[in-house]
Amino acid sequence: MAGKIVVLVGLPGVGKTTVLNEVLKQAGERGIAVKNVNFGDVMFGIATSRGLAKSRDDVRKLRVETQASLQAEAAASISKMAAGASVIIDTHAIIKTPQGYWPGLPAHIVNALHPNHIAVVEAEPTVIQQRRAKDSGIRERQDDLDLQEIELSMLMNRAASMASAVLCGASVLFVRNEEGKAAEAASKIVPLLS
Ligand code: ATP
Ligand code: AMP
Ligand code: MG
Repeated sequence: MAGKIVVLVGLPGVGKTTVLNEVLKQAGERGIAVKNVNFGDVMFGIATSRGLAKSRDDVRKLRVETQASLQAEAAASISKMAAGASVIIDTHAIIKTPQGYWPGLPAHIVNALHPNHIAVVEAEPTVIQQRRAKDSGIRERQDDLDLQEIELSMLMNRAASMASAVLCGASVLFVRNEEGKAAEAASKIVPLLS
């Protein structure tokens, strides 16, 4: 059976990477082989090699035109990794840039990645605020602090996820990542991989 491509999206600090690590653990326990790719790692790697960013949270503050080049290069590199295996890609459906909301999965990117499923990780806006505050020493996610801004970003994230799905025929699964229940959230995503 051909591998499945699952894309994981959600607001910064909602818990995508945490849930993804649980997905890998649970998939391993079930004997499901999965490759894990962090889109931001690949973009940050290219940005660093060109002296464009010092931290991964600098990338979304670059000019959109610069981000778009990095995004296209990252997608091309990730599409080569897929080759038959199931892959889970940790990424963003929207990026809040100084030039406005910008799609993480526009047509040419979904056409490179060919996702079967898009899993949208969500939590209460107040919980997202708390998770960002907890990580304030290690990540710069403070560009969206206000609760109303987080709510608007969640709405944009939903709209962008569905729009990307329409472009490529992927399904969209909303997954709640409740406090202390990342494993439960992961258990909703694991079946998408086989
Ligand atoms: P980014 O898009 O910026 O990479 P992310 O969505 O990958 O963010 P994580 O780094 O996984 O977010 O999580 C942000 C913070 O929230 C971390 O401190 C993590 O430990 C915590 N967290 C994530 N999920 C849960 C959960 N279910 N219960 C408690 N804490 C959680
Ligand atoms: P993350 O650690 O997931 O927050 O990723 C780091 C950064 O990479 C994000 O803040 C974005 O700037 C960038 N990034 C990740 N995925 C995408 C994408 N699909 N399109 C554009 N930028 C992305
Ligand atoms: Mg992450």
